[in-house]
Amino acid sequence: MVADQLVARGIADPTVLAAMRTVPRHEFVLPGDRERAHDDGPLSIGYGQTISQPYIVALMTELARLTPASRVLEIGTGCGYQTAVLAACASEVWSVEIEPELSARAAGTLAKLGVANVHLRVGDGSNGWPESARFDAILVTAAPTEVPPALLTQLTPDGRLVIPLGASSQDLWLLTDAPGGLLRKRILPVRFVLLR
Ligand code: SAH
Repeated sequence: MVADQLVARGIADPTVLAAMRTVPRHEFVLPGDRERAHDDGPLSIGYGQTISQPYIVALMTELARLTPASRVLEIGTGCGYQTAVLAACASEVWSVEIEPELSARAAGTLAKLGVANVHLRVGDGSNGWPESARFDAILVTAAPTEVPPALLTQLTPDGRLVIPLGASSQDLWLLTDAPGGLLRKRILPVRFVLLR
């Protein structure tokens, strides 16, 4: 998976590649999908939601430019796989999920794997996590049509917001808080579930 899907497509950050090698993706998918866990695509995790394609997880993590000191906010915990990859690359991860059952399942999987530097909450991620702001990076794993304004206010100076935007047609964007204002870079077309 790492060589064929990630390195071959240009993922180069050694920390991200190490995390993608270490975090056991098969532990996060539904029991019937374990042997397909490393396929080059998304999989259903129930409740009409999906675990993102490995390449997209790696790309979003690389775009976040994490260090071992980084504090990261994720919107859309889902099965917790991206959460675990972020936790392996950063200091602490806060993750918000709107669907209680998914958050509970992710909490169980992360605890089973001994991932301790994560904080999970059930709620609408459009509000971010004001009490724990600010964050060096924010990753949004469900697509809104506009950037939720609260998220921009919770970035550190030089903070990175990695977010899919759009409905029937979506692009992944990297927004960076910079001294002269927000830098916006369109990365590639994507297909995420919609932010509710
Ligand atoms: N990162 C996840 C991707 C899950 S799909 C993974 O690796 O599994 C996107 C998730 O966003 C879904 O679980 C969905 O329930 C959640 N979601 C949708 N709208 C949301 C909102 N407003 N706030 C928080 N989570 C939301």
